[in-house]
Amino acid sequence: MNTAVAAQLPRGALANDLSAIMPANAAFLAKPHKLLIDGAWVAAASGKTFDVRDPSSDNVIAHCSLGDAADVDLAVAAARRAFEAGDWAQMKPVDRERVLHRLADLIEKHADELAELEAIDNGKSVVMARHVDIKAALEVWRYMAGWPTKLEGKTLPLSGTLVPGQQYAAFSTREPIGVVGAIIAWNFPFLLATWKCAPALAAGCTVVLKPAEETPLTALRLGELALEAGFPKGVLNVVTGMGPTAGAALSAHAGVDKITFTGSTEVGRLIVQAAAGNMKKVTVELGGKSPTIILPDADLDVAIPGAASAIFFNQGQVCSAGSRLYVAAKHFDQVVGGIADQAKSMKLGPGLDPTAQIGPLVSSIQRERVTRYLKDGAAAGASAAAGGQALSSPGYYVEPTVFVNVNDEMSVVREEIFGPVVVAQPFDDVADIARIANDTIYGLAASIWGRDIGKVLRLAPKLRAGTVWVNCHNVLDATMPFGGYKQSGWGRELGGEAVYSYLESKSVCINITG
Ligand code: ADP
Repeated sequence: MNTAVAAQLPRGALANDLSAIMPANAAFLAKPHKLLIDGAWVAAASGKTFDVRDPSSDNVIAHCSLGDAADVDLAVAAARRAFEAGDWAQMKPVDRERVLHRLADLIEKHADELAELEAIDNGKSVVMARHVDIKAALEVWRYMAGWPTKLEGKTLPLSGTLVPGQQYAAFSTREPIGVVGAIIAWNFPFLLATWKCAPALAAGCTVVLKPAEETPLTALRLGELALEAGFPKGVLNVVTGMGPTAGAALSAHAGVDKITFTGSTEVGRLIVQAAAGNMKKVTVELGGKSPTIILPDADLDVAIPGAASAIFFNQGQVCSAGSRLYVAAKHFDQVVGGIADQAKSMKLGPGLDPTAQIGPLVSSIQRERVTRYLKDGAAAGASAAAGGQALSSPGYYVEPTVFVNVNDEMSVVREEIFGPVVVAQPFDDVADIARIANDTIYGLAASIWGRDIGKVLRLAPKLRAGTVWVNCHNVLDATMPFGGYKQSGWGRELGGEAVYSYLESKSVCINITG
């Protein structure tokens, strides 16, 4: 069913059929979900729970424990005890690698099940969940599992001029930072949990993970699999709950040494302020409004589907989504027409329909937020070459939308929408494109589409963004650092840079005067 037909759907359509899901997932959904603290599953201290909904139907599918400050206290204390006890941080590196690989083996074994659960919880396509979220997460666990034996220090060539007559030798070592609080968003729940937990654990830290309240389920499964893999108790704790209570308590907690966060710039700012209390180390991966730049010599057969996927993948709920499209003027109509045709023909459907190409957004709040932008854009004079509306189904569907006739004053051009909405503008002079692309508070990513590698490589360094893709977009890899310039964040995820962000450097200086 394409978007034009779907817009007239009766209420009740496009919902997942949960009667046919994998038995393991049916059993998992049905059970009460507790908090993982100190190696045991416990109810929230308040005894309260919150509902988890299926975004395709708005039906409640699970009840999770509503952790708050009291539970965060317990989890941080458990993580601290586990850290101090040393049976993780001081475990032989090769043995820590073995436990991490055991967890990776379990993720591999349960990959289909995890993908289905992610699709049900988040609304995303089960096919994408399997071949992107879970597959990429597995690669990150494997990659990070190899790091414990490679955390080397240096010998330091001192000049020794400070104290005459004395001679010194010095070396540096790497030590885990300590207790890490990890707060994550809902767009790639299992993958983001992995981006935080895998490098932190590889570094020898202990972790308190707070998943997003919209999508807590696969983080709880991760906790179960970690126990099965043999992580010592308290090394990985999972506290489900709301951002302003559980999340705020974790980011302000004096017993936490580092906070790592993925989410909106707005919440990132709160986290940074809360972290200042005890000067926690901070990594924040925040919003984006990433440009997709199609140069005059681009191969349009590649660039058109590439630019469409840059924005519509995961319903546009991707911090690095190509949400601002800049096209060389001579190709503008052809490119916009091509992307609009693609948008109109995309099949909307629930995550468990393997043929669906656009799923629901994650929550009714997110649908309202995106719908507000659609209205603001139209009111400001933008016209929709495709899409432009939310559906009237109980599931949180929004049509993939291509806005043209936009200008730089419009909120749809300036602000992160986090939905399947792209704003397209032509440009006349390639010399102007870096300035135009950089005219944003964000700096997470950008893509350049062009055949002349010299032109591309002259443009790439001018873009103020943490990742620049060439003739591709949203390509991530365990070894490739990812993070933002400007208000898109501090620090980097993935690669060695992520591991080192969970380590302190210690210098040891020895007087060797004879
Ligand atoms: P979105 O606005 O897209 O839902 P958020 O940035 O609000 O994304 O949420 C990302 C994560 O931050 C979630 O786990 C959420 O619970 C958490 N969070 C929200 N508000 C706060 C806060 N004040 N302090 C700490 N964490 C928060």
